[in-house]
Amino acid sequence: MNESFPALGPEVDTSTQQCSFSPDVSDNTCQVPALWHIAWDTDLENGFACREHMAVVQQRFVYIDRHPIGPDCGMPGARWDFDHKRCNRSDDTPALAAAKELTA
Ligand SMILES: [Zn+2]
Ligand SMILES: [Zn+2]
Repeated sequence: MNESFPALGPEVDTSTQQCSFSPDVSDNTCQVPALWHIAWDTDLENGFACREHMAVVQQRFVYIDRHPIGPDCGMPGARWDFDHKRCNRSDDTPALAAAKELTA
């Protein structure tokens, strides 16, 4: 352990990412906290789904990729990371690479 690093705060609250399932495309969205982030097409049109509606999606629809909700999902500037099955905001941040070298 390196004691010069500060203690981290509580885990990021991702509960604002709600299921966007809307069976009749009305205001009637599910709004349960989502578990899955779904990419519908190659333009990365995407949505969130709770456990129940992910099951519905798998039965009825096609999608190109999905991954469990993470802290970067739905954040501005986040990119869909197919290889690592998550959204990523910090892929090419030079500061992060430098920090990793310092702490290696
Ligand atoms: Zn739902
Ligand atoms: Zn995501």
